Amino acid sequence: MGWKTLDDMDLNGKRVLVRVDINVPIVDGVVTDSTRIRRIAPTVRDILAAGGKPILLAHFGRPGGERRENLSLNQLVPTLERAFETKVLFAADCVGAGAEAAADALQPGEVLLLENTRFHAAETKNDPDLAAGMARLGEVYCNDAFSAAHRAHSSTEALARLLPACAGRLMQAELEALESALGQPKRPVTAVVGGAKVSTKLELLGNLIEKVDHLVIGGGMANTFLVAKGLPVGISLAERIMKDTAAEILAKAEAAGCEIILPSDIVVAKKFESNAPHDVLPADQCPEDGMILDAGPESVARIIEVFANSKTLIWNGPLGAFELEPFDAATNAAALKAAAMTRSGQLISVAGGGDTVAALNASGAAGDFTYISTAGGAFLEWMEGKVLPGVAALDQ
Ligand code: AMP
Repeated sequence: MGWKTLDDMDLNGKRVLVRVDINVPIVDGVVTDSTRIRRIAPTVRDILAAGGKPILLAHFGRPGGERRENLSLNQLVPTLERAFETKVLFAADCVGAGAEAAADALQPGEVLLLENTRFHAAETKNDPDLAAGMARLGEVYCNDAFSAAHRAHSSTEALARLLPACAGRLMQAELEALESALGQPKRPVTAVVGGAKVSTKLELLGNLIEKVDHLVIGGGMANTFLVAKGLPVGISLAERIMKDTAAEILAKAEAAGCEIILPSDIVVAKKFESNAPHDVLPADQCPEDGMILDAGPESVARIIEVFANSKTLIWNGPLGAFELEPFDAATNAAALKAAAMTRSGQLISVAGGGDTVAALNASGAAGDFTYISTAGGAFLEWMEGKVLPGVAALDQ
């Protein structure tokens, strides 16, 4: 943890360039989910309270390096003003004379929002000249966009090297949670990896078997492992061509002392549909026309037992086809156990990535997890053991 936080910086009277992720969904000009904006509010408020002047840098959508009015950040000003409870000014570019004048004129208590960084094609190339133009607008750099930290862009990487740099509150919370889960975790550590495909999570599995004590594999990807063990999976989602890779992962896990937990019983239907008629069968009994859609109750009992003996849990991906009742049962039961253990102080639980947040929200367990990361790609890359350029650039 070589990075600084806002507490380490002298912000009084300083213009603070803050890289945020406010890439919120908008329908007909209306923000339909302002979660990302609410989550950066503590950073903005803390900078204001310390006498600093926040100047927000952000991307919005994929304008492909061109000015596109429907992707202007201007439309977020009212939502930002409500979230920060203060005046938010807007500059029509993120560099140049107009932006510099707006930054100079900023008064204590006010926030300046700069136009979409991706209106410049140079942004996604991590162009140093663009970063130098941005650096002229501030005296301190604060990165609060963990979810954009896996990309080396001018506003996330090059800029961090030009000014005294620190992590914002959201970035700090995210990094501390990840550090407690995989950096220096309390052992035993259990990872749950579920979801559709092995092929999208190979690097993740490879890194986790080196680091965790128990690895629960669920969802469609578990089917590929059943195939690797020579078991029938009928018409289930399974990547049969990945069977040798799955077998290698099992062998490597054994060599690394990581226990892999695969379903010992399965919930099998004939159709991928809510409330499709289904049977619970032993894992070696999937019929030819059967589709495995969830782990069975014996598997759930084993997963709960593994959780009960763990001190740290890291979770990505559902254990079954959680969008379809009742094939959300294993995901829900395991999530609720993790939530109860976290509530009583027995477990540190960190989850994130793609559908995981939706699955844990649906189970009602999300609120009790120690930390739920909404950063999809960045969370996964961190779990894969990769260095995130936006975080590495803060390590000065
Ligand atoms: P991922 O985005 O890789 O985390 O995968 C999540 C998706 O995997 C969800 O849409 C689930 O419905 C799907 N899924 C999980 N288990 C199964 C399964 N046994 N059969 C088919 N799809 C599944």
